[in-house]
Amino acid sequence: MTDIIIVGAGTAGMSAAIYGLRAGKSVLVFEAAAYGGQIINTPDIENYPGIAHVSGFDFATGLYNQMMDLGAELKFERVTSVEDAGDKKIVRTASNEYEAKAVILATGAKNRPLGLEREQEMIGSGVSYCATCDGMFFRRKDVVVNGGGNTALEDAAFLANYCNKVYLVHRRDAFRGDAAAVKELESKENVEFVLNATVTKILGEKKVEGVEVTDKLTGETRVIEAQGLFVAIGQMPENQAFADLVDLDAGGYIAAGEDCLTRTSGIYTAGDCRTKTVRQLTTAAADGAVAALAAAAGIK
Ligand SMILES: Cc1cc2nc3c(=O)[nH]c(=O)nc-3n(C[C@H](O)[C@H](O)[C@H](O)COP(=O)(O)OP(=O)(O)OC[C@H]3O[C@@H](n4cnc5c(N)ncnc54)[C@H](O)[C@@H]3O)c2cc1C
Repeated sequence: MTDIIIVGAGTAGMSAAIYGLRAGKSVLVFEAAAYGGQIINTPDIENYPGIAHVSGFDFATGLYNQMMDLGAELKFERVTSVEDAGDKKIVRTASNEYEAKAVILATGAKNRPLGLEREQEMIGSGVSYCATCDGMFFRRKDVVVNGGGNTALEDAAFLANYCNKVYLVHRRDAFRGDAAAVKELESKENVEFVLNATVTKILGEKKVEGVEVTDKLTGETRVIEAQGLFVAIGQMPENQAFADLVDLDAGGYIAAGEDCLTRTSGIYTAGDCRTKTVRQLTTAAADGAVAALAAAAGIK
C-alpha cells in the first residue's frame, strides 16, 4: 500500500509529493492530462518569490524533476473515485484500483465556458481561454474578449498590443477588475467596451468569423465581426467525483481551511481546488507542503 496518493500533478500536487517524499513516505501521483497543470502554457511567471522570470513549462519541469529525483511514482490516469475504508483509502481510475493510507486531492481548476453552441468544437478555430497562450495567432486581427474581471481586463490589454481591434464584452455596466486596468484600457484607441451585453452566438462555419452580442437592457442584437473569441469568465473546479467524501462549497470547491484537512480523516486537499481567496502558484505550493506534512504526520 502506498503511503500517500496525490490526485493531480499541478503545482500543488507536485509540491505535496516533494514534501511527502522528504518526510520519508512513499508517494504515488495521478495526472489526467500533462504534468504541470494550468501554468504550463504561460510564457512568463514574474511573481513567484525568488524567481524573477521563468516560463510555466520550465517551472513545471523543475517541480517534476525534483519530485521524480526524490522517488515519486507518476501515473497518467484520471482518478474517478476515492473510497474511505477507514485506515485504507481506495483510489479508482478507469482501469485500476490502488490503496493508500492518505490521499491529497489537488485537482486544480479549469476555465469556465460560456456554454454557447459549438463553443467546444471551435476551440483552436478562433475560440480560446488563454490570451497569453493563443494571442499571437490573432496578430493584426479583430478579437472579442468576454468577461469583466482582472483576467478579462489583462487579456484585453495584452491583445490590444498587437490585434487590430479588441472588443471587450461584459454583462454588467461596470467591471469587477482593477480600476487602474480599466483606465489603461480606456486610453487605448483600438479597444471598444461593449457593456450590459452578452455573447449569444458564435458566427462562422469552420472558424470564428464573428459573434452575435445581445444587449441585456434592450434585447437588441449586434454582430461583431472578429476572428477570435477569448473567454475570460472565471474558472471552475471539477470535484464532483469526490462529493461523497468531502464537502463542496457553492462553487464546487473542496471545503478546507489553511490546514488543508477535509471532513474525512486521511483525505486532504491542496491548491486551486480548495475553498480559498488567492489562487496562485505560491498558495498552491504552500498548500501542497501543508497537506503533505499533515498526511505524513497522520500515517502510523
Ligand atoms: C493562463 C494562466 C496564467 C497564470 N499565471 C500565473 C502566474 O503568473 N503566477 C501565479 O502565481 N499563478 C498563475 N496562474 C494561476 C496558477 O496557474 C494556479 O494557481 C496553479 O496552477 C494552481 O495549481 P494547482 O496544482 O492547484 O492546480 P492545476 O495547475 O490546475 O493542476 C491540477 C492538475 O490536476 C489534474 N487533475 C484534475 N483532476 C484530476 C483527476 N480526477 N485525476 C487526475 N488528475 C487530475 C489536472 O489535469 C491538472 O494537471 C495562472 C493561471 C492561468 C490559467
